[in-house]
Amino acid sequence: MSFAHLGLAEPLVRALEAKGYTEPTPIQRDSIPQLLEGRDLLGIAQTGTGKTAAFVLPSIQRLTEGKKVLPTHCRMLVLAPTRELASQIAESARAYGQFSKMSVATVFGGTSINKNRNDVARGVDILVATPGRLIDCVEQGYINLSMIEILVLDEADQMLDLGFIHALKKIVRMVPRKRQTLFFSATMPAAIRDLASQFLNDPATVSI
Ligand code: AMP
Repeated sequence: MSFAHLGLAEPLVRALEAKGYTEPTPIQRDSIPQLLEGRDLLGIAQTGTGKTAAFVLPSIQRLTEGKKVLPTHCRMLVLAPTRELASQIAESARAYGQFSKMSVATVFGGTSINKNRNDVARGVDILVATPGRLIDCVEQGYINLSMIEILVLDEADQMLDLGFIHALKKIVRMVPRKRQTLFFSATMPAAIRDLASQFLNDPATVSI
């Protein structure tokens, strides 16, 4: 089974070849076709399984089929618990999107909010953010979430442990109701399952 067999377009397959990846991992094989169809996804998976590519690749393909982004807006929002994870996801999105003309920016605490403002001023296709700083940027009018087509919550259990529950609920209220939502967590206790059921619409489930 190759990446092209999963339905990924040539610019993405070329980016994967540049990284030396020829075989999809199990989570990629199970998620990519369903995500390309636009389904919501509940992914129960740890880091190290290839889950970043599993959500980034089909999302880039869907974004290339859509409209151009407007100033201060974003089309895909990835929420992550920490700066380190947000940076890694952005780096992967840049690598996988290098032949697909995707713009990528990060927003997290500990950096200057003016830099965040400048980075998103012209609009970005993919924004990777931690919840607290994102809300600050939206409240200051630097970022507008009304064009979001794809919302990803990565490491949801970590975000809950870090006390981001209210921030997550607030952000979900700021994005359009009509969207694709992807929810990843390494563990699935009742609180996470409950949150997932609030955010997702008839999701496919992938457990690795
Ligand atoms: P992740 O679970 O997203 O943190 O990915 C774990 C590591 O596996 C990262 O270093 C990826 O770049 C790498 N990776 C992702 N997909 C593949 C693949 N299909 N083949 C080989 N390595 C991969």
